Amino acid sequence: MKVIQSIAQLKSELSKLPRILVPTMGALHSGHGELIRVARTIANTSGEVIVSVFVNPLQFGANEDFSKYPRTYEQDIKTAQEYGADVIWFPSAEELLSDELIRLISPEFGNTLEGKFRPGHFDGVLTIVNRLFELVQPTHAIFGVKDLQQLILVREMTIEKWPNLAIVPVETIRDESGLALSSRNKYLSSTELVLAAEINKALNRAALNPDPETSFKKLLFSVGIQEAAIDYAIRLKMPNHCEDLGKERLVVAVRIGTTRLLDNIALN
Ligand code: AMP
Repeated sequence: MKVIQSIAQLKSELSKLPRILVPTMGALHSGHGELIRVARTIANTSGEVIVSVFVNPLQFGANEDFSKYPRTYEQDIKTAQEYGADVIWFPSAEELLSDELIRLISPEFGNTLEGKFRPGHFDGVLTIVNRLFELVQPTHAIFGVKDLQQLILVREMTIEKWPNLAIVPVETIRDESGLALSSRNKYLSSTELVLAAEINKALNRAALNPDPETSFKKLLFSVGIQEAAIDYAIRLKMPNHCEDLGKERLVVAVRIGTTRLLDNIALN
């Protein structure tokens, strides 16, 4: 596996098709590993798998955790290699955010759910994802269903701007307690980890209830998570371009201490 940084190195490395891109912000865990594994399966032996690691400042708000976001570069190299990447690319902010950067504005859906709590977040996500697509010219890009709203918006942008690029979803990978793996789980104390595990348990039970939104809130309340800590718990109809993810999903964001955790589950 090659470890590269500059765009010039990237251009000289890329040669094979299909070319599968796995965009990440690093602090790689086995959820990212699953994305890389799926990418490897699509690429097979003739194609190539590129993992990008970039903590994107454009998607963090002023009071968010950009500077303390975990950076574990040595470990990321090992993980990417272990799961079968050909190239791990750590682009520099100077090169990615140069004058050539085309700033994208998210459609209105990006101002709801996460976007309501993180204004401008999806403008930042789409701008950088589009920039990565320009530079890598992938045939496929892999995204996790855990960040459902991101997946929906990236697919919409891709249909418009990159019609030959397939966005491949990967279901959420969880730890033994059911908690969705996330780089931000590193912020949780042992007591908070126990509470965080209740999110997935409640999602599974709420999904069987005719009113999953209320049921989810009640179930969390019964284990000591107040409604005020739930930023949203919303039944979301999947748009036409995401019908492979089910008809409807229950999408939630819950604050455990100071850490916001996202999760979702298919309904019916
Ligand atoms: P991040 O590094 O958090 O920006 O995530 C990079 C990619 O990995 C995104 O497409 C995420 O949706 C995906 N991802 C993060 N956590 C998981 C998980 N637990 N299972 C599957 N995919 C994940």
